[in-house]
Amino acid sequence: MRISMVSEHASPLATLGGVDAGGQNVHVAELSAALARRGHEVTVYTRRDSPDLPERVAFAPGVEVVHIDAGPPASIPKDELLPFMGDLAAGVADDWARTRPDVAHGHFWMSGVAVLDAADRAERAGLRPAVLHTYHALGVVKRRNQGADDTSPTEREPLETDIGRRADAIVATCSDEAFELRMLGVPAAHISVVPCGVDLDHFTPDGPSEERGRPHRITTVGRLVQRKGVGTVIEALAAVVGNGFDAELVVVGGGGSADDPEIRRLRGIAERAGVADRVVLRGQMAQRDLPAVMRSSDLVVCAPWYEPFGIVPLEAMACGVPVVASSVGGLIDSVVSGTTGTHVPPRDPAAIADAVSELLARPEQREAFGRAGRRRMASRYSWNRVAADTERVYRATAAARRRGDEPLETVGRVNGIGSRRHTRRQG
Ligand code: UDP
Repeated sequence: MRISMVSEHASPLATLGGVDAGGQNVHVAELSAALARRGHEVTVYTRRDSPDLPERVAFAPGVEVVHIDAGPPASIPKDELLPFMGDLAAGVADDWARTRPDVAHGHFWMSGVAVLDAADRAERAGLRPAVLHTYHALGVVKRRNQGADDTSPTEREPLETDIGRRADAIVATCSDEAFELRMLGVPAAHISVVPCGVDLDHFTPDGPSEERGRPHRITTVGRLVQRKGVGTVIEALAAVVGNGFDAELVVVGGGGSADDPEIRRLRGIAERAGVADRVVLRGQMAQRDLPAVMRSSDLVVCAPWYEPFGIVPLEAMACGVPVVASSVGGLIDSVVSGTTGTHVPPRDPAAIADAVSELLARPEQREAFGRAGRRRMASRYSWNRVAADTERVYRATAAARRRGDEPLETVGRVNGIGSRRHTRRQG
């Protein structure tokens, strides 16, 4: 198949760990490369965010990244990109005239807007591909958790619903997301769940391990944004130390500059909790260096308030490290509580402290969880498997499109559950 990915702000070429570069970049990069290994031709369209970027970059065998002019060629926060989606769509549709994709897969709501716009333009030339969408995050969940701090444009939620109704298929990454999509009225028949994956050759239990600064090491990895819950983990560390464990907390991610407001906030929490000398803020790290940090850890803690998917726990489990994880979003599916780690409620430092202390006290339990985590990742979460499952959805969607099946349409909502009717395309 000829596959178009559109990922407006998250380029496979970006450096990971900054405020707007994380799991989506990894997902688009790894899924594209794995689909190409299966023999498909993949083109990834992303917004040009620097004047120096070449128009086309060979990213991996069979994968090309194309930079489209849409808005100023500069780094712009993703919440300010919506006005440029028309230009992105025009650039993508122009390129489709040459590449003639079978399927187009949008990533994040604004890319969904651009893909549907490009598909309408292509339809006029008789070249409309099947349109699939992965949200990576939902506005309704973000607003529920962040309230007034949510800086998403007001158009986000209605446009997300519109994408859910107009795309030929939605590829959700976890069952919790599929549930949220049903609540938005997206027809169940159009939702497939395919998780994100992990690089099992890079994230391995065997290999170099860093020196620890204390007898026990707990690690968190992620973009340093408040909702990732690092502040809660710092508060939990104080209780873990109070329980008699001489532990340090390694925090990977963020801009790394001392005047970053989130770093200042986290330092303040550590000082107030009396653990400033035990919290090591490492800043952004290259993925190649992460396995050594994970292997050096007794546990990895992932304590987000909400988490659309969460690739970091997969990486920890692939390294054979147990995970203490909030029971939210994708972590509900990926971490098996009592088998590969422990689930805790979000925003609950006492629950994290209890779970961490229990595991620190039981090395044989940690080992068993670590082994089970690796096995789980190897059996279900390789990118090759994720690509094979995604390919199946692509083929079914493209075939339905060729047959002329119209997306199921939601005509009403009763108690939040859409009632549905089937329509067929006219003419
Ligand atoms: N990451 C990284 N360096 C950092 C911080 C994060 O390479 O300093 C990577 C991390 O290994 C993972 C991704 O960024 O692959 C984060 O993805 P996740 O889904 O956990 O969170 P998101 O950033 O999408 O919220």
